[in-house]
Amino acid sequence: MRFDILTLFPEMVENILGESIIGRARDKGLIEIAAHNIRDYSEDKHRRVDDTPCGGGKGMLMAVPPIDRCHGAVSALAPTLKTRTVYMSPQGRVLTQGIAKELSEYDRLIILCGHYEGVDRRAVEMLCDDEISIGDFVLTGGELPACVLVDCVSRMVPGVLSEDECFEKESFMNGLLEYPQYTRPIEYKGRRVPEVLLSGDHKKIEEWRKKEAYELTKRKRPDLI
Ligand code: SAM
Repeated sequence: MRFDILTLFPEMVENILGESIIGRARDKGLIEIAAHNIRDYSEDKHRRVDDTPCGGGKGMLMAVPPIDRCHGAVSALAPTLKTRTVYMSPQGRVLTQGIAKELSEYDRLIILCGHYEGVDRRAVEMLCDDEISIGDFVLTGGELPACVLVDCVSRMVPGVLSEDECFEKESFMNGLLEYPQYTRPIEYKGRRVPEVLLSGDHKKIEEWRKKEAYELTKRKRPDLI
């Protein structure tokens, strides 16, 4: 799967998405991530990409022409891929594991990151198929939300997680939070790992995990039940 991130701060996303599991998946060629600097598509002699809002108001807005040219150039890099263009926006659909699964069905995501007061609305209407938010709060830019989206979707690409890290058994995939997990030492400062997990009885362990997942979800996130 391929991710093209349109941003004014490519180093920000490159740094975050070059590490750990996502970095290794890139090295193995399971996913491709490219960050494109929208400023490179400015035709202004000072490389300006923003302007004041029409009708007045505070702050600066990212203008349409550099975004449009950047999107056009990036789309042309792999025109045959099944692509969805997503604008990271606090006004979008709030990201869930289900939405990530839906987006993982595409061959490529082009992700537009806003900054300052955001982008001229026409950029969203003309170029984007979707708006995704990472929660009901406002950040300074779309770069961190884009990294969250790429991380979450990439984990669903076959081979990115090893079989024993399979995302399908994790929180939210079956509508419940994941059961509690433990590792060695068996006892720490008087707290023991639940006996059933040491029993070797796989049927009992499975039943215990199902019950714990249900109880925990009821307590922490009753809205999911
Ligand atoms: N003026 C905009 C509004 O009130 O809806 C907020 C702009 S915000 C300061 C700048 C950029 O950060 C946005 O264009 C968007 O790309 C990104 N952003 C901020 N919060 C976000 C969130 N919760 N989810 C996704 N992107 C977000």
